[in-house]
Amino acid sequence: MVCSFICDAPARAFVKQMKSHNGYSGCDKCTQVGVWRNKMTYPEMNATLRSDEDFALMSDTDHHLQPSPLTGIVQMVTQFPIDYMHLCCLVVTRKLILFWMKGKNLAIRQPSHIISAISTKLIALRPHIPSEFARKPRELTEIDRWKATELRQFMIYSGPVVLKHSLPEEVFENFLLFSVALSTGSQTPELLNIDMGISKVLELLSKVLEENKSIKAEITNLRSEVRALSREMVRPVAPEASPSSIKLPLSTMEEFKLAEAAMRETPCEKQKMITTFSLIGGHTAEEAVRRMLQSGLTNNLARRFNWAGKGFKDAFKNTVLSDVMFGICTPKTAARDHSYGVFRDTEEVA
Ligand SMILES: [Zn+2]
Repeated sequence: MVCSFICDAPARAFVKQMKSHNGYSGCDKCTQVGVWRNKMTYPEMNATLRSDEDFALMSDTDHHLQPSPLTGIVQMVTQFPIDYMHLCCLVVTRKLILFWMKGKNLAIRQPSHIISAISTKLIALRPHIPSEFARKPRELTEIDRWKATELRQFMIYSGPVVLKHSLPEEVFENFLLFSVALSTGSQTPELLNIDMGISKVLELLSKVLEENKSIKAEITNLRSEVRALSREMVRPVAPEASPSSIKLPLSTMEEFKLAEAAMRETPCEKQKMITTFSLIGGHTAEEAVRRMLQSGLTNNLARRFNWAGKGFKDAFKNTVLSDVMFGICTPKTAARDHSYGVFRDTEEVA
């Protein structure tokens, strides 16, 4: 009797005759449509799950290429467990370690003396590793050559020991959530074959992701607050004293042009707009840009623009308003990407 099929993502897509893992409907566990952010992402945490029945009926036409020869012989969703080796060991664990070693986020990246202290502790464990393990721990500097089995050992066994009192508490607890989720799953391998085990693991994993998200969001919010504060300190204005002459949202091209002229000619008007927009905020840079655009322009007016002014549309990138918004929402490149995405959406609506 076949218990389950363990495949990596490309093999699974091939066997199941479905969209590949980087396609818009490529998740074989849920029905969400992916979001393209220089790579395919599936940000939704509580999307509708796929079922064996739905798969057999091919009810999500965007998910299937053609009927799989295995349909009707095995359960096409529950008997295809998630590819643990690639996802958890080779990707998530390695990524976490790389975040600590050379990540861009300074709140998470650790100084080199901490990294070498962790390595020293790993090496000290070597004589105590039982022969059931295929390999003994190596230094973190060799991370690019670590095999999946070494990453697994770190993720479940050695990581919680060597990281305790080495990493800052918040970062350590974030790792611990992941480690506990995976060790719970791997101690009950029979559960992994049915989706009960998986859903417990997923529940804990989504907690890890949510935590990462909220840490990021906090940093973004703090950044924009600091930026708004420093701007106010450089050029103090009292918006309550004299309200801006620009009324938002702008709904016609005439209003838009008047507002542009006002901001260009009177720095104080531009400063008032910056103050107004910096109060808007958002959990992510994308959300902040979206909210700023929504409160700045009506949908009808926004449809007349795109980023670079291609086709018959006006360019948004050279306007004072875009300058105001992206001054608030840096890193600029990221914000511009987001605004590009926001405009693409309005184009689809139109
Ligand atoms: Zn999914």
